[in-house]
Amino acid sequence: MSNKSGIIAPGGTIGILGGGQLGRMLASAAAELGLHVHIYSPEKDAPAAEVSGHVTCADYEDEAALRRFADSVDVVTYEFENVPAETARILAERGLVRPGPLALATAQDRIVEKNFMKAQGILTAPFADVSDEASLRAAIENIGCPSVLKTRRFGYDGKGQAKILSADGALSAYEEIGRAPAILEGFVSFEREISVVVARGADGEIAPYDPVENIHRNHILHQTLVPAKLPDAVADEARAIASRIVRELDYVGVMGVEMFLLAEGAGAQRLLVNEIAPRVHNSGHWTMDACIISQFEQHIRAICGWPLGRPARHSDAVMTNLIGDDVDQWKVLASERDTSIHLYGKGEARPGRKMGHVTRLYALGTRLA
Ligand code: AMP
Repeated sequence: MSNKSGIIAPGGTIGILGGGQLGRMLASAAAELGLHVHIYSPEKDAPAAEVSGHVTCADYEDEAALRRFADSVDVVTYEFENVPAETARILAERGLVRPGPLALATAQDRIVEKNFMKAQGILTAPFADVSDEASLRAAIENIGCPSVLKTRRFGYDGKGQAKILSADGALSAYEEIGRAPAILEGFVSFEREISVVVARGADGEIAPYDPVENIHRNHILHQTLVPAKLPDAVADEARAIASRIVRELDYVGVMGVEMFLLAEGAGAQRLLVNEIAPRVHNSGHWTMDACIISQFEQHIRAICGWPLGRPARHSDAVMTNLIGDDVDQWKVLASERDTSIHLYGKGEARPGRKMGHVTRLYALGTRLA
C-alpha cells in the first residue's frame, strides 16, 4: 500500500478481507466507481472472488500472503468483524485499514462494546462480566432472570448464546456456551428491533440511513421493513445514537447499529443499543434498490476518502432474505413486479445459509399508510 493522502482515485485498488456476499456486493459497487478489488479469503470458491479481478486464497494467519496483499492494494477493508487482531495489525503496519482498529476492538468484544456505550451515555441492556462460576453467580444476583448469557467474542446469528430463565439454569447455560468468557445481559422485553446503517467519511461527514425494522426467524434476519414505524422524535434519536457512535470511534466506513425499541407506557418509547457491526450490514441491503447511493457504494466512498452520497430514500421497501432452499423460488420471485432479486452465487443451499435476498419496492410514504 502506498497511498499517503488517504484518497483513492478511480483506478486504485481496494483490498477486502472476506469473500462472502457482503464482499461480493462491495466489489460490485467498487467496480461501478472505476476501482479495482482484491479479495483475501481463506475460502475457495468465495462468492466475492467471482466478481473481483484479484484474489488471494490464504489463511488470515499467513503473514507473507498478508504482506503481499497489503502491498498490492491502496486501502484494506473487511466484510466481517472477527478479523484477528494480529491480521489487522500486520495490515495496518503497511498502510491504510478502514475502519480502523478501535472499531474492530470495540465490536469484537461484547463487554468492551457495552462499556463503550455506557461511557457515551448510550443505553443498553443491563450487563455483567462472566469469567468463572463465581462471577456467573454474582452476575445472576445482580442482573436477575430472565437473562441471556453470550460469549464475549465470535457470536453471530444467535450462536454462542443461552437464555437463563431461573438461577438454577445458569450453570447449564454456562456449559452450553463452552464456559467461554461471557457477558450476562438482562433479557429485554422489547417491542421491536430496529437498526440504523450509518456512514462516516474520512473528512468526518456522517450520513445515517433511515431507521428500519428487523424481523428475525430462528435468530437469522428474515425481513427488513423500510422505514420502521416510529414517531419522528424516536427516528431522530436512533439516527443521533448511530451518528454519535461512529463519531466517537473516529470511524471511517459504513456501520450497522442494532437497537431494541422498548415500550415505556403512556405511548413513550426508549432505545437501547444491542450491538454494532463495523461493516456493511444485512439490514442495509434495501439501500441497493431504494436509495440512489447504496450502503455498499457509501462504504467504498468513505474508505476511499470520497464525498459521501446523500442517504435519502426514493422508495419504501421490504427486504426479505432467501435462506437455504428459499432460493429455489428464484423464478417466481424474478417474475414479481417492483421486486429486485439478488443472488449470491453460492453452490449449495444448506439450511440457514444466506443465498440471496429480494427487495420489494413501494412508492415513498405508502408502506405504512
Ligand atoms: P445478538 O447476537 O446480540 O444480536 O442477539 C441475537 C438476537 O437475540 C437479537 O436480535 C434479539 O432478538 C435477541 N437478544 C439478544 N440480546 C437480547 C437481550 N438482552 N434481551 C432480549 N433479546 C435479546
